[in-house]
Amino acid sequence: MIRFENVTKHYRGTSKPALSGVDFEVQRGEFVFLVGASGSGKSSCLRLILREDVPTSGRVAVLGRDLRSLANGKVPYFRRHIGSVFQDFRLLPSKTVYQNVAFTLQVTGSSRGFIQQAVPEALALVGLDGKQKRMPHELSGGEQQRVAIARALVNRPQVLLADEPTGNLDPGTSVDIMQLLARINAGGTTVLMATHEAGFVDAMQRRVIELSDGEMVRDEVHGGYGDTSNIPRLVPEEVRGAAAAAALTAVQEVQRQTADLSVVRAALAEELDAQRKAAASAPAPVAQTAPAFTRPTEPGAQKADAVAPVPSDEARRAPVEEQTPAPVGPRTHPIVLPQVDVAELGVADRLGLSDDDAEEVGPTS
Ligand code: ADP
Ligand code: MG
Repeated sequence: MIRFENVTKHYRGTSKPALSGVDFEVQRGEFVFLVGASGSGKSSCLRLILREDVPTSGRVAVLGRDLRSLANGKVPYFRRHIGSVFQDFRLLPSKTVYQNVAFTLQVTGSSRGFIQQAVPEALALVGLDGKQKRMPHELSGGEQQRVAIARALVNRPQVLLADEPTGNLDPGTSVDIMQLLARINAGGTTVLMATHEAGFVDAMQRRVIELSDGEMVRDEVHGGYGDTSNIPRLVPEEVRGAAAAAALTAVQEVQRQTADLSVVRAALAEELDAQRKAAASAPAPVAQTAPAFTRPTEPGAQKADAVAPVPSDEARRAPVEEQTPAPVGPRTHPIVLPQVDVAELGVADRLGLSDDDAEEVGPTS
């Protein structure tokens, strides 16, 4: 889903490369922390993924696209598949919450009907349903970041990039945002988060990629923050204990939910297997006999392992590989928190049961 191959980034006028020989691959559905001291290259990585910049050497591939050969004209289209949030929120100060979230959809030509459905859905997802008419300055920092997350998700991207999203927030609010990101990931969205917050990284026990002076020094599946002695503290020493405890509680709750989901996934895998076997000896295709894969929010919607019919908004959100059938999985989940709708988790996909091979880096046109 995201692949760095021996990536080096040397900014003009600097003596040392910001990134040097960075190599990693992030799979669909993963939650990955990108950690490292200030200046270690985290934001540079995220910018390369967004194609805001290009590597000096090496290759970055995202969503099956080699970004080197992505034509400039296709970049805006490509970016619709990637949500991003930042430490400083980046909201439009003169627009309401609703308008901030709707804005990108409007400029990219979404239909009014789609916007009217997608914006409230995104705001509900982040817990801001009642605040559509507020202006950014009428919101707390945590609420502003929620608006930014809603904006990032309104296009239902497959990947969410977060660059120090809790960096400007107090510890309690940071926990809420962290929990929200973890739940978004539990819904199937791949999340890559650059952070300094050791407490979260330790508590989450998710994959950690650590950079030091532009070099990748660690890639651990269930990592913690590691040696934090050189990391500047964004939160004062005395509140950090409380923050870490709160983070742990919040994250344990998310992990409990996720564990519930893995039980569901296992059961579903069995069920799918049984259905596939049954289908092998019956005329009806498996997809049409798998009620678990219907989308309850959209009557008559496609099955997760069937090729989608293509209404206009769906087409607009179609994968970058325009000629290939729409891949299934996380991209198709509606942005409603999973309580617990296995159909929306891209389960077949993550279990390797789908026929989707859109992961491969291919030609660009
Ligand atoms: P981090 O996000 O981990 O703090 P960055 O990716 O922002 O690290 O920066 C990595 C290194 O690249 C730093 O030494 C920084 O000064 C340098 N750098 C980042 N952006 C630029 C730029 N546009 N021009 C020159 N140097 C840059
Ligand atoms: Mg940075």
